[in-house]
Amino acid sequence: MFVREKIMRLADRIERLGSETAFTVSAEAAAFASEGNTVYPFHLGDINIMTPANIMDAAERAMREGKTRYCPNAGIPRLRELLAENVNRSHGINYTMENVSIQPGGKPVINKFLLALMNTGDEVLYPNPGFPIYESQIAFQGGKALPYGYVEGKETFTLDMDAIERQLTPRTKLLIFNDWQNPTSAECSLQELEKLSELAIKHDLYVLCDEAYYDVRYEGKSISLASLPGMAERCVILYTFSKKFAMTGWRLGAAIGPQDIIDVITRLNVNDESCTNHFVQYAAMEGLTGDQAPVRKMLDIFKARRDVAVDILNSIEGVRCFRPNVTFYLYPNITGAMKRKGFDDLEAFRKALLHETGVSVCTRLHFGHPLEGEKDCYLRLAYSGIDIEDIREGLGRFKAFVEG
Ligand code: PLP
Repeated sequence: MFVREKIMRLADRIERLGSETAFTVSAEAAAFASEGNTVYPFHLGDINIMTPANIMDAAERAMREGKTRYCPNAGIPRLRELLAENVNRSHGINYTMENVSIQPGGKPVINKFLLALMNTGDEVLYPNPGFPIYESQIAFQGGKALPYGYVEGKETFTLDMDAIERQLTPRTKLLIFNDWQNPTSAECSLQELEKLSELAIKHDLYVLCDEAYYDVRYEGKSISLASLPGMAERCVILYTFSKKFAMTGWRLGAAIGPQDIIDVITRLNVNDESCTNHFVQYAAMEGLTGDQAPVRKMLDIFKARRDVAVDILNSIEGVRCFRPNVTFYLYPNITGAMKRKGFDDLEAFRKALLHETGVSVCTRLHFGHPLEGEKDCYLRLAYSGIDIEDIREGLGRFKAFVEG
């Protein structure tokens, strides 16, 4: 009775607050493992490789040197400068430290970007399938979420540009764009980026460029939408140390963009967390300026894992999977495999896979509600948190499950 009364008193907006259901899958996998079962963890984009030792040493040193108090709300100036220089080199933009606000992770940039720019009822285009926090935060803050999808091509997924164009109205104010995309690993061509920038300029949109996987790539070079002419003044980059430096649990990222928006985001820092963890920012400086060999080694490990996983997945009847050059996610189409096993419910397939083989994955359903006309079924596998032998073993079991 007491609990029920409490729930009745929650704010109405809580009904619109979503979640990141990959964490629910983690809990389910952990419960299954606690019963003595072997679990092959492909569900969460976490990294089972240690943060480079030089970064850990820098954090420890900073703590011992007393960097344990509050620091400036926008982050320590030297880190802001270094990050601006770093992004200028990779993106060809002219940021200064005034364009950088340090954050406790990349994720808070989503919430703060919307708080800074979205009014109630404003329309926001966002990717679906996509990182679930976009839709959650748009709805929670009273915006209107307009999903756009990705289309399965011959060698990769491509952005459904028509869906973006079709939905633009005078009320559309913001575009959330996640190149090197989670979950599809899609990457836009330069022509697509040019088209997007043309639309953003024509319709006067601000853009959140979620660049969480900018540096997680095995071949080629990332091109940011923010680098295109006329775009730096309307893009806020979500930068994160999580994936690039194996620092997911350290919680460190940044918002990088036009100074007037960055100033507002820093004012939100004052209201929320005061400042990002002080000594962790010294570790980040070491990450940016120190030895990059551990980062290259990690990418080599990921690439080997990717190749093993893709080869096995493509050997399974009714499964097809691209070999993306970016991120550490695979998004195989399993429509045929489900049919073969007699499943028409993706969630039922996922649960059966976990309980019969120990292979734990997310599915399309963990990345938003399927769009109208979407017929095929997809899983999302992360290979960042599982060793190559376990990838072989787990996906071998997956194969036997489907074909047996
Ligand atoms: N954006 C995307 C697309 C992600 O996949 C993630 C994490 O998985 C994030 C943002 C947030 O990462 P973090 O808060 O660890 O920087």
